[in-house]
Amino acid sequence: MRAAAALRDADAKGAYDAFLEDAASCHPEQLLQQLALPWATRAHGSHLSVSSDDVLRRVFNAAFSRIKPYLLADLVRRDPGCCISGDGTFKIAGRVTSSATVLHFILGADHCVVAFAAVKGDGFTPVIPLYMQLRRRLEAMGKLFDVQAVYSDRCCEQRNDPSTAPQAVIFPGCRRVWGDGWHAINTLIEATTRSNHPDLQAFAAAVGKAIRVPHQEDVEALKRLFIDQARQQGQMLHPDVAELRALNRGYAESVRTVGPPGSVIAANLRRVFAKFDKNDGERPDSKAPPERLYRPSGRDKSQRSTEEVFENTIRCADKGCLTDPLPFPRMHTLLRVMPKTKRPIYRSVGQTVKNEALHSKVNKLVDGISKVGADSMNSRLLLRVFAHNRQRDVEWGRCSAHEPCPWITARALCPGAEPPPEPQERMGWDYYRDLCNQQLKDLQDMYDELKHANSKGIESMHMVVRSMVLRKMQAKPV
Ligand SMILES: [Zn+2]
Repeated sequence: MRAAAALRDADAKGAYDAFLEDAASCHPEQLLQQLALPWATRAHGSHLSVSSDDVLRRVFNAAFSRIKPYLLADLVRRDPGCCISGDGTFKIAGRVTSSATVLHFILGADHCVVAFAAVKGDGFTPVIPLYMQLRRRLEAMGKLFDVQAVYSDRCCEQRNDPSTAPQAVIFPGCRRVWGDGWHAINTLIEATTRSNHPDLQAFAAAVGKAIRVPHQEDVEALKRLFIDQARQQGQMLHPDVAELRALNRGYAESVRTVGPPGSVIAANLRRVFAKFDKNDGERPDSKAPPERLYRPSGRDKSQRSTEEVFENTIRCADKGCLTDPLPFPRMHTLLRVMPKTKRPIYRSVGQTVKNEALHSKVNKLVDGISKVGADSMNSRLLLRVFAHNRQRDVEWGRCSAHEPCPWITARALCPGAEPPPEPQERMGWDYYRDLCNQQLKDLQDMYDELKHANSKGIESMHMVVRSMVLRKMQAKPV
């Protein structure tokens, strides 16, 4: 029996050694061999070898520490272009063993992530140093004035004057902060009595068109395309049917929308409010008493009535929060034309809908996980963000899908490889740690100086920036 067990052990050891040898021929960097534990069985001691889970974690951590500088370098080389979209998500932060509650992402006009950080609370104050990091990066690139619009999921945060928002202080080319049309539409739709109310679908469509108006030329072009396609197949398509199809959500990428002037949105919303207030739930074919679509005020202040939410959105519209910040041709980019159907696919330069698409991707990281450590989540996030940005680069034709990752090209896993210097900027939970330890205070101080200078006028702001640069230069050791 003992002889049979020894034979089995010898077989297994042989397979293990062959595996390592095989790995050595495929991966000359020898990382696996360095990390692989010696073969051990019960016969060699009182316990078995360390669990494979631990080995895998060690391999991952060792490899990641060499890859991380490349992931960060890829992030901090990016600039957001003319438009920044900032938005927070709660799901991931809630699963990480840390006191941070929100993960804030900053995306650029090309839908790439340019920075992200974990913070506590969803106000703008804790992310000010994150935006200041970005400002410093853009200054170094000579692109600071390229940023002309900043969107926030929290809109103007009820400010009377949106030009006093911190986003406008940080980016001198941006004159105020903007709110996202889709968030405003969703807030209105959610401020109703129930999700299966018979009037809700029509209400949602009316609210959508009141805030984001479909560009009629795109609708017409799509209609013509559908009618031509039907004709080629020997069928007739009624223009009204073609129009309905063109406005279908499935073709949203081909119909650009416009955020019209504030007064137009406000008038549209007042019209929608009156229409659904009057017809509220009255169904001649139903015997049940009509139920109101509009929600009354809740007992606690957190649940606002539909009317209050409308008033709030109209106030924002009047301030111009929902109006497009740039002229229409600059608000969208043509990504490609579908080769077969010749249907154009546009990408919106502004809005924070792109952030929502990213959230649903990163949220998958915590599927089936109840709790995860901050460092572990940070590494997974950096990898996921790199993959997201790489996909966008491929989409925009900046690189091929088969191009090796930078750490492969640099043979970062080979012994003796020199990693690029770790960038100054902090991301994710590294940011949160530094924020809590007051390590980002210089960025906060720079912001406070900018804010003060802004209140004194643009001229003095330039003087402050110049004096700050001089002071930094003098502070540097010779
Ligand atoms: Zn607003």
